[in-house]
Amino acid sequence: MDREEIKLARAKGCAKCNETGYKGRLGLHEILECTDAMKALIKRKEEVDTIRRQAITDGMTTLKQDGILKVFQGLTDLKEVRRVCIK
Ligand SMILES: [Zn+2]
Repeated sequence: MDREEIKLARAKGCAKCNETGYKGRLGLHEILECTDAMKALIKRKEEVDTIRRQAITDGMTTLKQDGILKVFQGLTDLKEVRRVCIK
């Protein structure tokens, strides 16, 4: 993605959304794929950190990453993603 092309949406209210700038619901998803490597880690009752690293290696998108991708698509804004999943 070109740096110049990145656009971030920001909520702007109108009558339809009761001046909030938000309407409806949008889910952020984090899907952990149970690969053979993952099954082996779970079987050995590995630490959460080890499992997280394997998940990311296996291509898992975290909630935060999914939220940021949805900000890039103009579906929501960073403020809302921060509110729900960035502590
Ligand atoms: Zn509106």
